[in-house]
Amino acid sequence: MADPYDLVIIGAGPGGYVGAVRAAQLGLRTAIIERDKVGGTCLHIGCIPTKVLLHTAEVLEHLRGARDLGISFGELTLDLGTVQARKARVVDKLHKGTQFLMRKNKIDVFNGEARFLSDREVGVALSDGSETTVGGKHFLIATGSAPRSVPGITIDHDRILDSTDALALTAVPGRIGILGAGAVGVEFTSLFRAFGAEVTLIELLPTIVPLEDEEIGKQLQRSFERRGIKVHPGTTAESVSRSGDELTVTLRKGEETSTITVDYFLVAVGRAPVLKELAPEEAGVTLERGAVVVTEELRTMTQHIFAIGDVLGRPFRLAHVASDEAIVAVETIAGSEHAPIDYQAIPRPTFCIPQVATMGLSERQALEAGREVKVGRFPFQANSKASITGEMEGLVKVVADAKVGEILGIHMLGAGVTELLAEGVAVRYLEGTLTELGGAVHSHPTLSEALKEASLDALGRAIHI
Ligand code: FAD
Repeated sequence: MADPYDLVIIGAGPGGYVGAVRAAQLGLRTAIIERDKVGGTCLHIGCIPTKVLLHTAEVLEHLRGARDLGISFGELTLDLGTVQARKARVVDKLHKGTQFLMRKNKIDVFNGEARFLSDREVGVALSDGSETTVGGKHFLIATGSAPRSVPGITIDHDRILDSTDALALTAVPGRIGILGAGAVGVEFTSLFRAFGAEVTLIELLPTIVPLEDEEIGKQLQRSFERRGIKVHPGTTAESVSRSGDELTVTLRKGEETSTITVDYFLVAVGRAPVLKELAPEEAGVTLERGAVVVTEELRTMTQHIFAIGDVLGRPFRLAHVASDEAIVAVETIAGSEHAPIDYQAIPRPTFCIPQVATMGLSERQALEAGREVKVGRFPFQANSKASITGEMEGLVKVVADAKVGEILGIHMLGAGVTELLAEGVAVRYLEGTLTELGGAVHSHPTLSEALKEASLDALGRAIHI
């Protein structure tokens, strides 16, 4: 076997490839092993392709409202083939960029599937059919996650779909049922509805986007219903049966059962860590409920093996979390100084229509954590920019510590709010409070004024409401 690498990374998603670049910057001789494509779930079947489709969905929604803006045109039609071709071009461009980064940073890329042989080496089944062994002084497990289903429903990848199948549809479904109203579920709900499908959204918990502040979930449900989406919170899908091209889904809400008939059914109930093929137990890595157990430093129970991103099975399954965790792990390995990740300041953008963008604790979570809270709100109805664009749905809600004004959570619903989130994250990162967020001068007319006004509202000083 050749000399061991300083660092061997397994999985080249946004965690693995970003970690590889940082490792190379720090002078570590680095190898990355990827069984599919550099860029991982996010680039090929996650963040990027969904957002390309959602961008078309948003443009469609704008065009439907264009008469109000004084623009008229003939019939509006959607050519999903062209949309899919554009999606492929965007992904391909970014894929090439990621491959370039590997070459530029002189990272050795092994295209194949890795399996731990011991805590110092992995066997790699290369895509050309050959095998090799790669040794390392350190390892970073970044193998990500894959869709899972629920008991009683088998994803057949034909009519009963996971998110990867739904992304590849070449015709807009007439009727689609979507199980799970987390980020993936509500994003597909929005895009299929904008594309013209009849959509039924089913969520087990009492509110949709159940990880978010209840107020946001309730307003999003009203907004979905105004768009003609049927929403069933507090409901579970017990079974799906197929007859020809039609599916009958049995729903249960408490003691009551009912059925819906759809052409497609998308299961979006979450994702499970991908570890089976890697056999981490061969390297002494401890798992709990199928996910890798790590210390605060992102070290596994085997000192020189680290793990980051979706494979940790944490609630924040986000590309930027994987990337930042990878940087922290690699800097720890290299003995370089770094700040720990503030998990209270993780931005959680959801690109449904209208968008949801949140950070930190919901009002309920803050109260349950024993905090005395002050809450400020500002509706986009009262924001000038929202009146200009005509997109007045939604609000900004700020949850803060009642005594010192520390920002505990920011919760937004509305067009374009995912771009507003960065300001809240920066204020929190710099340990700012309501006074700074409300005091800083904000440009007019912009949506960002709603953040300032919500903070001022918490202080009892909002101007425009
Ligand atoms: P992954 O991106 O899953 O990468 C893991 C890689 O490891 C894969 O390429 C896999 O092939 C490889 N691998 C696995 N096992 C092995 C092995 N044994 N040997 C070699 N290679 C292996 N997040 C956001 O932040 N914003 C979004 O808008 C967003 N939208 C999403 C939309 C959808 C539909 C989905 C499914 C996810 C979305 N996410 C989004 C989540 C995001 O994609 C993930 O959080 C992110 O990709 C996790 O990164 P990772 O590096 O941990 O793992």
